[in-house]
Amino acid sequence: MVDEVEVLVELLSDVLGAPHQHYESKGQISFDCPVCAAEKGLENGDGKGNLEINYSRHVYKCWACGETLGTQGPLGKLFDKFATKKQKKVYELIKPEELKQEEKKKVRLRLPQGFTTFKDSNPRFIPHIEAYNYLKSRGITDEIIEKFKIGYTATGDYAYRIVVPSYDTENTLNYFVARAWVPKKMKYKNPPVPKDEIIFNEGAVDWKKDIYLCEGVFDSFFLPNPIVMLGKKMSRLLFETLYLKAEGNIIICTDGDAFTDGFKLYHELNGGKLYNKIKLIKLPADKDVCDLRGQIDEYYYEIK
Ligand SMILES: [Zn+2]
Repeated sequence: MVDEVEVLVELLSDVLGAPHQHYESKGQISFDCPVCAAEKGLENGDGKGNLEINYSRHVYKCWACGETLGTQGPLGKLFDKFATKKQKKVYELIKPEELKQEEKKKVRLRLPQGFTTFKDSNPRFIPHIEAYNYLKSRGITDEIIEKFKIGYTATGDYAYRIVVPSYDTENTLNYFVARAWVPKKMKYKNPPVPKDEIIFNEGAVDWKKDIYLCEGVFDSFFLPNPIVMLGKKMSRLLFETLYLKAEGNIIICTDGDAFTDGFKLYHELNGGKLYNKIKLIKLPADKDVCDLRGQIDEYYYEIK
């Protein structure tokens, strides 16, 4: 029988050069980090062995540049970036079945059963009227509905919810937000995708322009070039992507009751190449970004 660990370690050495430390009991092995080496202009590694791989969990991280340059994640990502086609094929063969299943699930995200846009549904259908009136009551115009491809469903697991789809840079559905317009135990029902593994509507972001960061999808309707954090805290993925791609300012627009979170986020982001490009909005405690319907200009908070 072929020892899969042996094959994987050999494959990793092919891609990354000779290993440094190898702790078989922990399933850990370290190599020179290719990103660190490239930063220093070295072709054959920097001799530091900062790239740590856990091959029983199939993840990697560089202790020097993992946080700042995103040199971390599932092993598949490492192979995508640094391996040849042939090496990637070998990895696919030894990759555990659970990981393959997870990836398949990701690919298969669909809009909820019964999803329809307002344009494509009968305007005299009672749920259509209710959903539409709900949006109107929150100041959402026909232009916004069109721009964000907002729809609803009246059947299935997500019945009686407004649905806001999210598309990635390849225009593939990567998430959706489903908010009830009737009183329900759960206002929001999330799709079966971890929200920290996607960037909401990444495909629509203009990285050259100022970016407005907000908590919820309903806030984003009223902001130019928004990114929704889907909560008060920022995911690792979003942090890394902002750091690598954002060229303009980043304006943090948290709700009035979450100013402390916004302030924390300000300090997390305001460093390195983003230094002095982060701005902060401070709303009255009882106000949400969506209440103001985009009128946030007078709420810039001056940080001394
Ligand atoms: Zn590194």
